[in-house]
Amino acid sequence: NAQTAMIAAKQAGRDGYHFYNQALSSDLRQRLMLEQQLRLAVQPDAELGLELYLQPKVSLSSRHLLGAEVLLRWHHPDKGMISPAEFIPLAEESRLIIALDRWVFDRTCRMLNEWLQQGRVLPSISINLSARQLQEPDLVDWCVATVQRYGLQPSMLELEITETAFINLADTVMGQLGQLKLAGFPLALDDFGTGYSSLTYLRRLPLDIVKIDRSFVADICDDPRATTLLRGVMQLLDDLGFAVVAEGIETLEQAELLQHIGCSCGQGFLYHRPMPVMDFVVLLDGPM
Ligand code: C2E
Ligand code: MG
Ligand code: MG
Ligand code: MG
Repeated sequence: NAQTAMIAAKQAGRDGYHFYNQALSSDLRQRLMLEQQLRLAVQPDAELGLELYLQPKVSLSSRHLLGAEVLLRWHHPDKGMISPAEFIPLAEESRLIIALDRWVFDRTCRMLNEWLQQGRVLPSISINLSARQLQEPDLVDWCVATVQRYGLQPSMLELEITETAFINLADTVMGQLGQLKLAGFPLALDDFGTGYSSLTYLRRLPLDIVKIDRSFVADICDDPRATTLLRGVMQLLDDLGFAVVAEGIETLEQAELLQHIGCSCGQGFLYHRPMPVMDFVVLLDGPM
């Protein structure tokens, strides 16, 4: 990648510049190609390898299914399955992310509509919205129109927005959040504890749910200070009236500790990995 190339370039001295330049441009070419392919995949009726996956959220005590988070997957024509951690940041560099998130939103509504028609009781479903979406003036109207078009209520679709979206609480961002909330969408703060957590966010944002980031969860069993911190945070979130979901639970010890400090809902590989919609439906219709 570009960084290795730069180090190599430094070591190579005078000739290095040339090498660096070449490596960088091939990296850039790769990214441009990926972006182009992604752009095609997001066309309204394209079936070019984007797929919704669902990761169940469960009750930590009973393991009962409480709902699911929609996570995007991309089956790339030559590269195989690419993680959203790889292509979301790429999409976020341009307006492509707007179309991408709306594709996910639309497909999720379509899925919920099918479930309703098939007579299912809808579980609580959440989707991720990029921070950039909050800068789009038509966001709220678009979201409301889309759920209505599929015969749904905004209350059926929870919107997760990552904490880093709120580095600055610009008026537009606050305004849009307020309107989404007013329209009836439940709002979740995603990745809580990763970056710029500020008590101000918790006070000023119209949130319903806070999702504890998995890096927080990963530490609680080995680091007593992390446990203490999380216990305090749980207490605070509870007092403020937020529902709390723990992310990335991988071990039984983590699950037990989380319950011990008052967290009752979570998702993670211990319970289920993100899965294709068909597999989730089997769970949904199952005995639990
Ligand atoms: P996120 O919203 O925080 O989603 C949780 C991520 O943690 C998912 O990664 C999930 O597969 C992973 N995960 C869940 N349980 C465990 C666990 O026990 N252990 C570990 N190691 N990982 C676990 P994924 O699917 O790769 O998505 C990564 C990120 O990409 C998401 O983080 C979200 O920020 C973003 N993303 C995914 N889909 C979308 C989308 O449709 N739109 C937008 N804007 N972002 C998306
Ligand atoms: Mg999320
Ligand atoms: Mg998260
Ligand atoms: Mg996360």
